[in-house]
Amino acid sequence: MSNLTTIGHYINGQLVDASSAQTADVFNPALGAPCARVVMGTAADVATAVAAAEAAFPKWSATPPLTRARVMFNYLHLLQQHIDEFATLITREHGKTFADAKGEVQRGIEMVEFACGIPQSLKGEYTDQIANGIDAWNLRQALGVVAGITPFNFPVMVPMWMFPVAIACGNTFILKPSERDPSPSLLHAKLLKQAGLPDGVFNVIQGDKVTVDALLDHPVVQAISFVGSTPIAEYIYARGTAKGKRVQALGGAKNHMVVMPDADMAMTVDALMGAAYGSAGERCMAISVVAAVGDAADKIMATLAERTRNLKIRDGMAPEAEMGPVITAAAQKRILSLIDSGVAQGASLVVDGRNCQVEGRENGFFVGGTLFDHVTPEMTIYKEEIFGPVLCVVRLPTVASAVELINANEYGNGVAIYTRDGGVAREFVRQIQVGMVGVNVPLPVPMAFNSFGGWKRSLFGDHHAYGPEGVRFYTRHKAVMQRWPNTSSGGAEFAFPTMK
Ligand code: NAD
Repeated sequence: MSNLTTIGHYINGQLVDASSAQTADVFNPALGAPCARVVMGTAADVATAVAAAEAAFPKWSATPPLTRARVMFNYLHLLQQHIDEFATLITREHGKTFADAKGEVQRGIEMVEFACGIPQSLKGEYTDQIANGIDAWNLRQALGVVAGITPFNFPVMVPMWMFPVAIACGNTFILKPSERDPSPSLLHAKLLKQAGLPDGVFNVIQGDKVTVDALLDHPVVQAISFVGSTPIAEYIYARGTAKGKRVQALGGAKNHMVVMPDADMAMTVDALMGAAYGSAGERCMAISVVAAVGDAADKIMATLAERTRNLKIRDGMAPEAEMGPVITAAAQKRILSLIDSGVAQGASLVVDGRNCQVEGRENGFFVGGTLFDHVTPEMTIYKEEIFGPVLCVVRLPTVASAVELINANEYGNGVAIYTRDGGVAREFVRQIQVGMVGVNVPLPVPMAFNSFGGWKRSLFGDHHAYGPEGVRFYTRHKAVMQRWPNTSSGGAEFAFPTMK
């Protein structure tokens, strides 16, 4: 009999009894061993959560935005006190280093800081006397019950791209976190309750495809926010919109860094180390391809190789760790086979991360930092999202050929250019078919006050995530025209009304 904790659902302000539920193992990837169990929810569990969220919606949506913002302020304060607790859960179930996990929590906290300003964000526009005796204005109203389905790689931050704004706008929310690292979802639930959020406004359903499909099909759920891999994003978008829902589905990525021959090479190598190998490459904004222009590759390769070889790969809780394990044994196997394919297809393997052993963590799901040179666009390691610590260098003659390569890629999440030439950078920003662009910034993840989203097969839907785009996604625009009886209506009008 296992004594592992069971992570269950949270519905209507209560943890749901999980004693008779089906469960799956949650692993500590550094140990390669289970550290908890998670309930695998059913369609009936989803129906219970939706009913709770539906019942809470009328009162919550009618609550003044300032009162809702005050709950967010309380929650913000509690989050700041629990950063280490969140980060410990992240490192235990995801594997990323503790410092990286704290950074993730901080970027999530930003979303709550934005949500604290919701009375300002929800302000409408008013036109006095748009016609004789008539005023017009518009307002934004909450949608109702909305749901978020999130990936394993940011178990705290990505859910926070969704629920703080959704709730602050007056919606009620159901979170379906990744089954690989579900624990932080319940800490959010606890802190939101402590912050004064009424029961039923925030709910958590654990599970996999079964619960996702039940959310997609439930007629009461008005909108779905999804972040995950491209095939699932496309499926969520198709099924959710076919059921009449508003859907934003953010997918996978293959992010390039263009390195120009005039770039500051020390700065470039530092940026590449963090952007390629931070979080073991399991970031949707990770740089996985260097598009090296002219002789740029010759200038960085030796240092890049040396530093990749010397990466400190440890259990993420070790203070000196620069990189932890990947998420599962299956992910480790898939990444290793992609490295094999790169060798078989003729890329030069400069640093080989296969056979990575970490002392005292022999069963952990580790892959060493891997560096390929002379990669070509036909190779599988170029085409597929590897989502591991593998960096591919493609050598190109000109910046125009780099732009052409990137624009032909099916993904368009993030991109960066390293150069000292302002004119080249400016033209690059204008030409590139990618949603988020960094100029000498390797991971151009917008802060909460802007919005996040890729182009092409990195995002299905019309809205980017969080910030002002999040407010638009989680509300409906309503236009109002009013006239009062003390002004003349001018009699019956049978022609289409024009404003006089
Ligand atoms: P995933 O697509 O496997 O899972 C994401 C979510 O979908 C999870 O909650 C999972 O339970 C659910 N799911 C999985 N298979 C499903 C199915 N067949 N039907 C319905 N639901 C299903 O993604 P992941 O492995 O957890 O996360 C990594 C991926 O997420 C990478 O591709 C990465 O690029 C992407 N990602 C994208 C962004 C972005 O902003 N664009 C951010 C983070 C991660």
